[in-house]
Amino acid sequence: MTAEAVKPGHDEFFLMTPPVFRFAPSPNGYLHLGHAYSALLNFDRARESGGRLLLRIEDIDTTRCRPEFEAAVYEDLAWLGIDWETPVRRQSEHLADYRAALDKLSALGLVYPAFESRAEIAKLVSAREADGPWPRDPDGAPLYPGESKSLPADARARLIDSGAPYALRLDMAVACRRVGGLTWNELGEGPDGEHGTVPARPEAWGDVILARKETPTSYHLSVVVDDALQGVSEIVRGQDLFHATAVHRLLQVLLSLPEPAYRHHRLICDSEGQKLSKSSGSTGLHALRAAGITPAGIRRLVGLG
Ligand code: GLU
Repeated sequence: MTAEAVKPGHDEFFLMTPPVFRFAPSPNGYLHLGHAYSALLNFDRARESGGRLLLRIEDIDTTRCRPEFEAAVYEDLAWLGIDWETPVRRQSEHLADYRAALDKLSALGLVYPAFESRAEIAKLVSAREADGPWPRDPDGAPLYPGESKSLPADARARLIDSGAPYALRLDMAVACRRVGGLTWNELGEGPDGEHGTVPARPEAWGDVILARKETPTSYHLSVVVDDALQGVSEIVRGQDLFHATAVHRLLQVLLSLPEPAYRHHRLICDSEGQKLSKSSGSTGLHALRAAGITPAGIRRLVGLG
């Protein structure tokens, strides 16, 4: 028999491949109960499905990420009884992968430099709002109001040559026209109970940033590239990222990357019903551990007892 004859077809290969999960914290603060819930869900899903669990350190924001927070991630997860495959992927070490994806999107004519500063953008938004409401993205931030997209090529080139800093943005209208209707497979639940085949509406985000002025990539771009490169098949993460999935699906299609399934989970809130933040001291895993809570106690606290 030839090697070709025993090579599994796509479907058999998919069935034989164990599912791949990942927990992907940003080391810009200490982990709290919400992270513990997400990490434990990923760990449990990987165990019950015979799958693999990866840990990815999302440290592209060099101004906020710190080595001591990264060290605390490893320590807290190990204390929780979670184990993950090594080596851990640290995004800051893979900028060339994101650059390659950006180049691909640029070659499709979907990327443009945007020169405005944050302050200029805020000023433009207030000027637009004087004439009526200006659209906001699903996180509540105003859509990009700048004019950089329509700059003539020579003006753009002059600005770049002069050393003016710029971000790279996705031309959302053109990108959406290119791919048409998009959906994703939601195994969990969105904030409004969305489940199953969910329509993706990336246009709600406007011209998202693909590379920041200070970092040659962005959250959306690196998460999509990494999930594909690492073969992640089921993405388990908080509902705060539910709507961002629309942008991720769009980028996956534009970059010809495989489509993972998504399982968004409820968020753990504080006693006032607010989403936990990395500065929320009393729900930090460090503080809870110091107060004598056990890993089993953490499971009970997040409803996984
Ligand atoms: N790094 C992101 C965070 O800490 C999570 C990214 C993701 O799960 O897609 O919120």
